[in-house]
Amino acid sequence: MFHVDEAHYCRGHSERRYLPAELSINKMWKMYNKQPNLEANLKVKKGLFRKIFNNNYNLGFGSPRTDVCSTCILLLEKIKRESDEAQKQRLMVEHRVHKLKAKAFFNLVREERPNLKTFSLDCEKNLPLPKTPDQITYYSRQLYLYNCTIVEGSSKAPLTTQNVFAYCWTEDQYAKGANAIASIVYHRLMNTNLTDISTIRLIADGCPGQNKNSIMIAMCSKWLSSSAPDHVQRIEIVFPIVGHSFIPPDRVFAHVEKDVRKLECILRPEDYLEIIGTYSTIVRMGSDYEVLNFKSGMSSVIKDVCSWHFQFKHCKRFLIQRSKEIGNIVIQGEVHYTNNLDVLKKITRKNKKTSDLNPEVITQNIVRIKPAKLVDVKKLLTTHFGNEWENEEGFDFYRSILSQTSSLEEEEDASQEVTCELQVEERCL
Ligand SMILES: [Zn+2]
Repeated sequence: MFHVDEAHYCRGHSERRYLPAELSINKMWKMYNKQPNLEANLKVKKGLFRKIFNNNYNLGFGSPRTDVCSTCILLLEKIKRESDEAQKQRLMVEHRVHKLKAKAFFNLVREERPNLKTFSLDCEKNLPLPKTPDQITYYSRQLYLYNCTIVEGSSKAPLTTQNVFAYCWTEDQYAKGANAIASIVYHRLMNTNLTDISTIRLIADGCPGQNKNSIMIAMCSKWLSSSAPDHVQRIEIVFPIVGHSFIPPDRVFAHVEKDVRKLECILRPEDYLEIIGTYSTIVRMGSDYEVLNFKSGMSSVIKDVCSWHFQFKHCKRFLIQRSKEIGNIVIQGEVHYTNNLDVLKKITRKNKKTSDLNPEVITQNIVRIKPAKLVDVKKLLTTHFGNEWENEEGFDFYRSILSQTSSLEEEEDASQEVTCELQVEERCL
C-alpha cells in the first residue's frame, strides 16, 4: 500500500490522488517486483505495470497545483474528436467561456487601485514529519506541519517577507479546517495597516472545508461590523473557477518546496519553519495568534445558509457591506466575476447583529492523532535513526506527541467524537 498525498478535492477533481514527486511508475514497478515475499509468478513486466497503473488508478506524481486544468483537457479532446460541425462549434464556445471566466478571475487578482487592499490565501500541501529518504516512507503515514499563507497585495506586488505571512501549526494542535482558516484571516485583518482603504478583497481557492463556507462569511461580517476602521466599507471574497486557481501564495510554495526537496531529511517542525521563514513572516498558532470558535459562536446570530437569499454553492464572489443599522452587515452572493446583482440583504437572526458574534478562544493541543499513524511515525524514526532516537536531542516534537497519546489511550471512548470530526476534516486536506 502506497501512502497517497492530499486529495484533489479542493481543486475540484475529487478522484485524483497524488504520490510523492520523487516516485515514478518505473520506480514503483521496481519496488513492486523486489518485494521480498512476492511469489515469482506474480512478478510483472514494466509494460503491464504501466498499463494497470494508468488504466485502473487515477494517480499523479507531485503536487496538484502543477497539474493542468482537467476541464480544458477534456474539452480540447472532445473538440478534436467531434465530427459534427455544429457540435464542435458548441464545444468551442464552451471552452472559450471557460477561459474567459478564468481571465476575469485573474483580472480581479491583478487589479490595483487606490482604496483597495487585496489579500490572497492558500494552504500549502501538508509538510510531512519526519521527512526521510527511506523507501518505507512511501507506505507510512506521517505527522504534518500545516502552512496557510496570506499574501498582502495584488498578483503584481513583489513577494517579500514584509507582505507574505505564513501561518503555521502542527497537526496535534488543531485540524486544518474552517475555524483555523477563518481565525488566520481574522488575525491578518486585525494586524494590517488599512489607512485610506475602503474595500478589502480576499482571494482563496474555494475549498468548502477551509475557506468557502459560512464560517468565513461570519468572521468577515464580525470584523467589518465591530473591528474594522470606519472607512472600510466593504469586503469582497472571490473564488476561482476549478482548474485555474494559481494565486500568489502558490508562488511562495513553489520556492519553499524547491528548498524542501534539496534536503534529504527533515526532522523538526522548526527545520521547515527555517525554510518558510526565508520567504515569509512566520506567525505561529498558540504563541502569535489564537484559534477562535466562529463556528459555534455564529449559530445564534446568523441564519442557516439554506435560508439566505442566494444559493451559496454557485457563487464565485460574496460582497459584504456595512448595513445602515449600526453593527450589522448586508451581503450578496454573485455567480459572475463582473456583473453585480446588488441586492444586498441581512443574514442575521431576529433582533441580532453580526457585531453580537463573540467567538471563544479554542484551547489547542486537543487533536487526537490516530494510533495507526503514530505507530507508523515511530517505525519511521526507528528505521532511520535506530532505537537511540528516543533519548537523543532534536526529537522533542515526537516524544511529546507520543507521550501525550499514551496517556490518552485509556480515554479511548471519550475521544471518539474528536476522531470522527477529524475524519470529516481530513476529506478536505
Ligand atoms: Zn481550464
